[in-house]
Amino acid sequence: MKRVPELVAAALLAVGLVGGACADPRPERPEVRRAGYRVLEGDFHVHTTWSDGMLTPTAIVRQASRRGLDVVAVTEHNGVTAGKIARAVGRLGDGPIVLAGEEITSANFHLIAVGLEHTVDPGGGSVAAVAAVHAQGGVIFAAHPVEFFWPSLVPIRAELDGAERMHPLALRERKGPWSYPSMIRFYDEATPRLGAIGSSDFHAGSVLGICRTLVFVKEPASEASVMEALRARRTVVIGTKGELVGDPEMVAALEREPYVPRTSDYAYRGEGTGDRITRAIGLFGVLIALLVLGKRRPKEAQSAAT
Ligand SMILES: [Zn+2]
Ligand SMILES: [Zn+2]
Repeated sequence: MKRVPELVAAALLAVGLVGGACADPRPERPEVRRAGYRVLEGDFHVHTTWSDGMLTPTAIVRQASRRGLDVVAVTEHNGVTAGKIARAVGRLGDGPIVLAGEEITSANFHLIAVGLEHTVDPGGGSVAAVAAVHAQGGVIFAAHPVEFFWPSLVPIRAELDGAERMHPLALRERKGPWSYPSMIRFYDEATPRLGAIGSSDFHAGSVLGICRTLVFVKEPASEASVMEALRARRTVVIGTKGELVGDPEMVAALEREPYVPRTSDYAYRGEGTGDRITRAIGLFGVLIALLVLGKRRPKEAQSAAT
């Protein structure tokens, strides 16, 4: 019976965690159209616990829906398995469209491939990687193409389908070969024009979808229609100063009738009534645990000394 306070604390914390997860509000995802296409919000660069990310492929699908994403691509370092698991989970629910992908990662380049069935080995080099992705019917983008990666990426730029134009690197002041301005130059100097991609490169924390891509798909919205839109480069990204970058026709449509993306604020905290109540219960549990531990410690230290 000595352990009653601990049990109470653990129970309250469990109620807080489970209740909070169940009560999590998910933003409405109303159907939006511009220029005759459905506008979807996508994040095409996401990691999971299969390499260096914090959430499992299943949790990513759930978190993507909390973050108001219509489409997400799971792109694990040098492997497509996590993407295929997430895609299978996505097909079961009514949440976001999920695409299987890979971040083909070597010391010299990082390339985002979306719409894959088989892992692409980076060992063959960037030229072979592009060919392997296209042979599978996938699309391939330069990931965070800062100057550091240019020696490998500039020679294949004309073969790519797109490049990240927005990435969390844009939100930090960084100079030299990892600077955001060099990422912009990689995109701006491309001929022909590349598909504009905004991605969160999610690993941990609450930043999934902080940078996103607006994709203009033919209806009905599906994995196939998203792939078609990416191949056709029918995308727009909103830059750090609010500038619209990407398909000129879609940019013009958004200038005529602006569109504000959903939750792309940095923090994520549910503000529904259920969220607030369960959060308070969970915090109360933590408080009890701290008080109990604070009282027990000196006694245990004393008994250890005797
Ligand atoms: Zn990378
Ligand atoms: Zn990455």
